[in-house]
Order: sequence, then C-alpha cells, then structure tokens
Amino acid sequence: MSGKTRSVGDGRFKPGDGRIPFEERYERFAFPEPNSGCYIWMGALNWNGYGKMGIGYLSEGNQQMQYAHIVAYEYFVGPVPTGMILDHKCRMRCCVNPGHLEPVTYRENTMRGVGPTRVRVKAAKQTHCKRGHLLNGEIRNSDGARVCMACRAITIKARKAKHRE
Ligand SMILES: [Zn+2]
Ligand SMILES: [Zn+2]
Repeated sequence: MSGKTRSVGDGRFKPGDGRIPFEERYERFAFPEPNSGCYIWMGALNWNGYGKMGIGYLSEGNQQMQYAHIVAYEYFVGPVPTGMILDHKCRMRCCVNPGHLEPVTYRENTMRGVGPTRVRVKAAKQTHCKRGHLLNGEIRNSDGARVCMACRAITIKARKAKHRE
C-alpha cells in the first residue's frame, strides 16, 4: 500500500490507468492518419477535444490526467520550455504526433489559432475574464475566444445544482 502509481481495479487494461508503459499505450491509442500524417488519439478526449491520459494516481480512484500530446512530446522530444505551450501545427487537437507540435508562447498560439482575427487579437491581449478571474490557461472556444476555467467551473456547478432539484 504505497506509491502514487499503485494499481487499482480488477487488473484489466483500461486506457490511461497509469500501469501500462507510455510507449505501449501510445502504440495502442495513436492511429496514424495517412493524409495529414497526424496520429489521432483514440483514447479519452477532454471536453475541449484534446486527447488525455492518466499519468498516475493522486489517491485511490483519483487519477491525475495530462494531455496526451504533452505526454507524447515530453516523452519523444523533451520537456516543454517554461512559459511555453505546445501548438498543434496541424490544428488537429487530438493529434499526438510530436512532429506536429511546436512550443510557442501563449500569445503566438492565440494569434495562430482558429476563429476570426479580431477575436484572436482580443484573446491574446486579455488577461482577465469579465468576472475578473485571471486567465492563465490555453483553452479557447471554437470562435477563438479564451475560456475562463473559473467561470466554467461555476457554470458547471450551477448546472449540476439545477439538475439535482
Ligand atoms: Zn497532426
Ligand atoms: Zn471568470
């Protein structure tokens, strides 16, 4: 009964359970797409369309998740430089091909991203959301506008509370 990566469950393989070596999981879940050269992540996807995987356990049943493309980059290339984020040159969020990933500053990433230029320029300058939370994530909606994770958490909580009524 020790260690953060202690095995749990019934012993059957589950994607992202932290017991299978990364290389093996990468082989199972990254499917090459011949036209684009993308490796499409067939494991779990985050709500925003990025592939994700478990990288260990914080506590029993409480998995620590990481974006699959970040794990792949750090495994095959090396650590993402401090203050930089990984940009998908192919614009395919679920792609985990390290060759399609490039560390850029947040501002560069926002300027390159999807959505109207006007929205992206605004997003690159934005430091706080309309409620005043500090924006420090790289998450954007499909229009290219920045998503405040604090506001999002509030919305989800409210939605859940409503659901319980
Ligand atoms: Zn790609
Ligand atoms: Zn906010």
